[in-house]
Amino acid sequence: MNNCIFCSIINNQSSADIISENIDVLSFKDINPQASTHILVIPKKHIDDVLNADSTIIEKMFMMANDIVTKSSLSKDGFRYVINTGSDGGQTVDHLHLHILGGRQLNWPPG
Ligand code: 5GP
Ligand code: ZN
Repeated sequence: MNNCIFCSIINNQSSADIISENIDVLSFKDINPQASTHILVIPKKHIDDVLNADSTIIEKMFMMANDIVTKSSLSKDGFRYVINTGSDGGQTVDHLHLHILGGRQLNWPPG
């Protein structure tokens, strides 16, 4: 989609610190990390938000996230998955993304 920063990363028009990828899903480090580990997992096809995602892509995103966590100390120490959605949810990029946050004590409730 035009003017989508995450589509630009997928198309190699913008750079990112890539963690892993497969035919459907890409993961990379967040440019403004909120914890020592802050990774975004996105579908390679543009989808606005989680309400527009089908079960197949949701499964693929979570399986990639689980694979990243399993190969790190987060699996022992704990972590958080976040999908911000819409204005009240704090979504700032309108391309579906799953945040993986960890490496520090995370507070609850969120701000
Ligand atoms: P949201 O607020 O929509 O849930 O999360 C969007 C996330 O994307 C933010 O954490 C923000 O730091 C990250 N982000 C925005 N633009 C870029 C970018 O160009 N590169 C990377 N790696 N992350 C970005
Ligand atoms: Zn996009």
